[in-house]
Amino acid sequence: MPPSGSNPHDASAPLLEVFASYQGEGLFVGQPQTFLRLGGCPLRCRYCDTKHSWPVAAAGDESYVTPFQAILQVASAEWAQGPLPRPISVTGGEPLMWPDFLIGLASVAGERPLHLETAGHDLDALERVLPVYDHLSLDLKLADDLAPPVGGVDLPATAADWDALRPRQLNLATAHLKRGGTASIKLVVTKATSTHDSSAFEAILDDLERLGKELPLFLAPESPRDPRVAFDPDVLASMDGLVAAALERGLSPRVLPQMHRTLGVR
Ligand code: SF4
Repeated sequence: MPPSGSNPHDASAPLLEVFASYQGEGLFVGQPQTFLRLGGCPLRCRYCDTKHSWPVAAAGDESYVTPFQAILQVASAEWAQGPLPRPISVTGGEPLMWPDFLIGLASVAGERPLHLETAGHDLDALERVLPVYDHLSLDLKLADDLAPPVGGVDLPATAADWDALRPRQLNLATAHLKRGGTASIKLVVTKATSTHDSSAFEAILDDLERLGKELPLFLAPESPRDPRVAFDPDVLASMDGLVAAALERGLSPRVLPQMHRTLGVR
């Protein structure tokens, strides 16, 4: 097991990078933020653009930092952009692999708002962490976009597994709204799941209609690696079908490609 202290201040996690940039997705798109990328992810999204984040570094690896060490790196990255604190987006990898670190980070982050970008696969970890975070960006997954997960028998693998998780994911997200936080949902639309209609997303849309109407819904067409390349026409056609299906259910979809790729920044 990777090191994890009982005191959240001491809990460590493998830190891959800290950098200041602009939020490229979701509710806070365009906002100057400091990004803190943790290593380790048990999921295997076929469209993942951070595959280097998948491995979990061995215990004792020099990449492990405490929350306090991480916040020093955040302050350093902020200083390079002008010495003003920015919101911190914790991303990965899958940050929920490190709940003690995430909680510890909240206790040393000062006035900086904390944002969590996650697939929400570990509901217990999500429930523990959310109360000390300001914003949840929840990436709802389609099983067809995933290869089998790695690292545990309890990990969601099938469409039925994800369908079973989703109501509690959405309940946690809406509870976060009720206690004054913000939360949004992201659906990635890929060529693999492009059927020129919304059929691949029906179960998710039904759950959102039932349990998450108040959650802003961002539809993210899989972005070409090269921003000069046009979006895949199948993906765009599917987007239209998905938007129509979301509107029919009283949801408020917004189509938002990954802006950081358009800007050519991290
Ligand atoms: S959850 Fe995120 S880091 Fe993990 S495979 Fe999917 S896109 Fe990549």
